Amino acid sequence: MTDQVSDSVQARVDANWRSVCDQVANACRAAGRSPDEVTIVGVTKYVDVPLTQALLRAGCRDLGENRPQVLWQKAEAMADRSIRWHLIGHLQRNKSRRTLPLVYRLHSIDTLRLAQTVAQQSGEAGQTTSCLLEVNVSGDEQKHGFRPAEIEKIIADLIALPNLKILGLMGMASFDQPNHDPAIDFASLRALRDRLTVTTGLPLPELSMGMSGDFQAAIAEGSTCVRIGSRLFEGVR
Ligand SMILES: *Cc1c(COP(=O)(O)O)cnc(C)c1O
Repeated sequence: MTDQVSDSVQARVDANWRSVCDQVANACRAAGRSPDEVTIVGVTKYVDVPLTQALLRAGCRDLGENRPQVLWQKAEAMADRSIRWHLIGHLQRNKSRRTLPLVYRLHSIDTLRLAQTVAQQSGEAGQTTSCLLEVNVSGDEQKHGFRPAEIEKIIADLIALPNLKILGLMGMASFDQPNHDPAIDFASLRALRDRLTVTTGLPLPELSMGMSGDFQAAIAEGSTCVRIGSRLFEGVR
């Protein structure tokens, strides 16, 4: 397998990456925040290994996949230690063991049972797993994630689990309702995080929110991690 793309494709990915970095930096400044407060996770679920490598060469070190099997495959094909892999999609419990050693951060803890499995298997592997709790903040039926009221009830059980480092929350704005303002969903995710920091006494610094179409709004509402896919691969897929 070759990991090369043509020079013109590489140039386009380079330009897309620079333009996303600029727009993220501008959104930070507009919100009175420093650009170093926001990590850009390049979501590579749409593309093959050569284009994923092209994004890495462009300078993106945080890569996100939404399917565990694809993450395994790419992490193995690209054993470049400078990559920080983020799992941003649903993790079935039977895929946890193989995923844990490969990921830098798990964005999608969406049930207490999954959290228990990840905690136990992290212990067996001698590691602590950094993770985020996925919240279904918009209430869309087809989305994974805890309901806000549910998370407030079980947060004590979640934070009591060993070998899990819960860093914050992840969520998506609604795409069910037309003309819906994503800022409403991002603000309610942040408000939930703020309530949880009070009840738990944990800082919960991370808010993973914002995608290609709504990252500016997410940054204005306090996002620390935007997950960008389509914008990075415009013109090359
Ligand atoms: C696909 C995906 C993204 C990236 O979406 P784009 O709109 O292509 O930027 C972000 N987060 C999750 C959970 C995804 O599945």
